[in-house]
Amino acid sequence: MPFILKRLFLGFLFCVTLASAHAQNIQTEVRYYGTGCFTIQRGENVLLTDPFIGNPSATKVLFGKIRTDTAYVKLYMNPAAFRKVKLVVAAHSHYDHLMDLPFVSRLIPDSTPIVCNKTGKHLLSFYKMKQPVVAANEAMGTETTIGAWHYSADSTMRTMAFESMHPPQTAGINFWNKRYAQDLVAEPSIVSDWQGGQTLSFIVDWLEDSVIAYRMFFLSSMAKAPYGLFPKELLDEHEIDDLFIGASGDSEYSSFPGPVVELCKPKRILLIHWENFFKSKEEPFKAIDTKGLEAMTKVLKEKCSSETQIITPIPLNYY
Ligand SMILES: [Zn+2]
Repeated sequence: MPFILKRLFLGFLFCVTLASAHAQNIQTEVRYYGTGCFTIQRGENVLLTDPFIGNPSATKVLFGKIRTDTAYVKLYMNPAAFRKVKLVVAAHSHYDHLMDLPFVSRLIPDSTPIVCNKTGKHLLSFYKMKQPVVAANEAMGTETTIGAWHYSADSTMRTMAFESMHPPQTAGINFWNKRYAQDLVAEPSIVSDWQGGQTLSFIVDWLEDSVIAYRMFFLSSMAKAPYGLFPKELLDEHEIDDLFIGASGDSEYSSFPGPVVELCKPKRILLIHWENFFKSKEEPFKAIDTKGLEAMTKVLKEKCSSETQIITPIPLNYY
């Protein structure tokens, strides 16, 4: 090989080595805010999920007005991470998955896509947020079909939504399950204004040096298979590193985590939406359904190898 070519080749190898070392050195920092709300940060790239940090009481939710308690949310949000949010995903549009987004969006870059369902888009239209809102159920995948990728403005992150379902809240009844077909003309202020719409699950990829460096799967409500699942062929390009699954249990859904865990075979499982989110974060965190959470943890321990970490995250902590 001529000397100059050899120098170029060695230089190229050096750059590739540096690039991959750089990718490997980036740590994933998961911060839990309670319910389905997380910031997941790798370097300068942050995902925000199901934006809801407040904890209006059950009485207020059922009989009063619910609006973002801005002083309370400010206490707990981390502005440095929110300024780096490059993608937001919201799995459905009930208040406990979307209500605080208009307020926290003031810190998020204007170019950050908000990926939610059509109902969420109609709900958020009232707030005239600067960020583009994408109704992902128009091009969602299913257990057998691939959907569309939605990219961050700088193409360093992407997400694909899948058709999922919402479990009944109580006694087999599914409340606030309508879909909006038009923009809201008044501000949503009571619980029934926040109709759920199509429930979604999401794969999210962090792309570093044009390769998938970290992949998570987000399923914030319990769904009976095949709802919430994605085509197995997507795993050919990258495995699931972290699986986030809703864990407000119900005996009818005790078999819920089996199929999604068997599909994902993740390194870590984070059980989310497990705590009593009607209580202030100043009170001790307690499960909203202790038996359901215990049953799900037992199923997961049986299904997973000893290498899989099963985490019940405590709000305001990092993982
Ligand atoms: Zn819900």
